[in-house]
Amino acid sequence: MMDNKPCPCGSTASFAECCALIIKDHSLAKTAEQLMRSRYTAFTLEDNNYLLKTWAKESRPETLNIEEAPVQWLDLKVENHEEGSEKDIKGTVTFTARFISSDHLCHLHEESRFVREDNKWFYLDGTPESSTKKISRNEKCPCGSGKKYKRCCL
Ligand SMILES: [Zn+2]
Ligand SMILES: [Zn+2]
Repeated sequence: MMDNKPCPCGSTASFAECCALIIKDHSLAKTAEQLMRSRYTAFTLEDNNYLLKTWAKESRPETLNIEEAPVQWLDLKVENHEEGSEKDIKGTVTFTARFISSDHLCHLHEESRFVREDNKWFYLDGTPESSTKKISRNEKCPCGSGKKYKRCCL
């Protein structure tokens, strides 16, 4: 479907050559940051199964139904990471993700913790902080199209 489009995670690669591979085979996420990016992409695809599969056992929710509260994801910026390399067993990734939900632009800022078990990275937990701002109909759409919000993502 969107295979040749840029990957939602914001890398320069296409979806097919980026997160699609990791979502198919979780073990291909070599770093905590790669796993984090693939989980962001899974959020945009409403892929509950992948999100559950990549959640550490100790903090994994029983079920997940993210399609019940759909949002329009805009972009992801990875701001920092500590450890989380192929040689580590834990790591943290700090990021900001933006989305639109009921006419509000939301910035979700989180420092996520990851653990590596059996050569696979898993999401452990995070400290999300979010800020929201109402989008007026006539302002430029936050998606970056250059059009007014009312003629774009509204
Ligand atoms: Zn990606
Ligand atoms: Zn837009």
